[in-house]
Amino acid sequence: MPNTMPDSGRITARVRYRLRLAGRPLRGALHAGPNAIVAGGVVAALTLAVLYAVALYQSRMDALEHAQESSHSIALVAERDIERNFEIYGLSLRAVAEGIRQPEIMALPPRLERLVLFDRAATAEYLGGMYVLDEQGNIQIDSGSDIPRKGNFADRKYFWIHRDRADAGLYVSDPYGSRLGGGARIALSMRLSHPDGSFAGVVVMAIRPEYFQRLFEGLAVGPHGAISLVGKDGVMFMRQPFDPGIPGRSIASASTFRHFAAASEGYFSDTSSIDGIRRHYFFRNFPKLPFIIMVAEADTDIFGAWRQRAIKLGSVMGLFALGLIVLAVQLSAQLRRRMRAESELRLLARTDGLTGLANRRLLDETLEQEWRRARRTHRALAILFIDVDRFKAFNDCYGHQAGDDALATVAHSIAMCLRRPADTAARYGGEEFLTVLPETSESDAALLAERIRTAVWDLAIEHAPSTFGRVTVSVGIASSEGGEIEHVDQLIRMADEAVYEAKASGRNCIVGGQRDIRHDARVAVPAAAAVAASASASAPMEQP
Ligand code: GH3
Ligand code: MG
Ligand code: MG
Repeated sequence: MPNTMPDSGRITARVRYRLRLAGRPLRGALHAGPNAIVAGGVVAALTLAVLYAVALYQSRMDALEHAQESSHSIALVAERDIERNFEIYGLSLRAVAEGIRQPEIMALPPRLERLVLFDRAATAEYLGGMYVLDEQGNIQIDSGSDIPRKGNFADRKYFWIHRDRADAGLYVSDPYGSRLGGGARIALSMRLSHPDGSFAGVVVMAIRPEYFQRLFEGLAVGPHGAISLVGKDGVMFMRQPFDPGIPGRSIASASTFRHFAAASEGYFSDTSSIDGIRRHYFFRNFPKLPFIIMVAEADTDIFGAWRQRAIKLGSVMGLFALGLIVLAVQLSAQLRRRMRAESELRLLARTDGLTGLANRRLLDETLEQEWRRARRTHRALAILFIDVDRFKAFNDCYGHQAGDDALATVAHSIAMCLRRPADTAARYGGEEFLTVLPETSESDAALLAERIRTAVWDLAIEHAPSTFGRVTVSVGIASSEGGEIEHVDQLIRMADEAVYEAKASGRNCIVGGQRDIRHDARVAVPAAAAVAASASASAPMEQP
């Protein structure tokens, strides 16, 4: 036996392809459902992510709002404390200015005079001393000593401001280094005038900047926060965290300072020119004093807890969303496998187990469908009835198993001869096959019949009992071309009868042609004649 036969149960890719076309598997449906599941999973995960992002943004805004409220409260507390103290200092200065004008006080011995004039105010915790300076700037009365210490302060700004301007009022100086020792000082000063209004000197109080330092230390602005007191000209008075270089330093050119001129109070976010930390600032211009207070909470403090929570919750949400997508992908893969299995099953239910061709059920459906289409479109429908010659004898000679193998090989050969996707090859029953050829003329059908006959001949499957010595087929052609056929069964009967005639004509040949079934006028067409009619070359028929 020639070794050209495939496994009886095997379906080649091409045959399967033809069957798929015939069986109309729902390729689109095979993907739509699973894809929708994946899309659903992704949409659900994205929705979760968006909701989480919105909640996260909201809680970030809340954290910022809370920080701004606390900065605002801290600034107000500090402002009130500073204003109250400066008011008291101002009252003490005024008391000195008025006391100086009382001759009876000035007539007292120096020790008593100091006690009455300075009223113990000069011993307050953060005061560096109080002095009365004469018109030349020399110390006239010294709160710290009965014999005034030597010193001239005519070059100090607070001195010449009062000397040159009678309306300077209570003047607050920038921080300066004390010439009498004791570090940085801030002068609070007031002009002294003669009864005629001319300049009589200055009464000055030296305040130690530690006052602000202690005040700021008691206010909580977070580990990386900062509180600053700045003069309206941009000179720093104090800053928490403290740095000895800060008092007296000008930040007038810093980007943060530019915000202060714009409004009496407000918020902004900036990177500090002093330590490079990004902070959210609240600033407020004092209404009565030449100070601006600035309370700043660092981004790391404001958003630290928020960030940690966001990372923890975000990881959980991320895992959850990922889990959703993975689940959707797995579900989709499972559904796709199941749909594919069902599709295979559907296909198998329409497939002949031995040959892999369409079975009777699918053949009936296809025939019915094509027949209706042919009638609707007035196009010809042709069928070929193919019967293996002397197959009973083949079985008897080589056994049933060899018979099965031969049938599968012949079936495969028939399927391979079909070229158009709409053509269907089916096993009609036993050793009989049928091809459905939509929109095919009878002459084209004859060509295909010859191709099939030749292909089977070329298989050269040994068949000793046959007069040809090899397996051959007889083919009957029937076509609806004449238009007189009423039902598809009539077409099959015509083809069947044509095969019968081919058998009678010696087998391994083709019978067909335009004829009327009622007259039953059949003519056997030898294979070579059919080929000649179509002018196409084919293997010459070998006769024993
Ligand atoms: P003819 O040339 O006139 O068609 O002769 P034939 O022997 O082919 O026709 P017949 O109808 O007398 O016998 C058909 C045989 O095909 C009978 C049966 O043994 C064989 N056959 C039908 N189905 C199968 C099958 O599935 N496997 C095998 N091995 N043989 C089959
Ligand atoms: Mg038969
Ligand atoms: Mg037969």
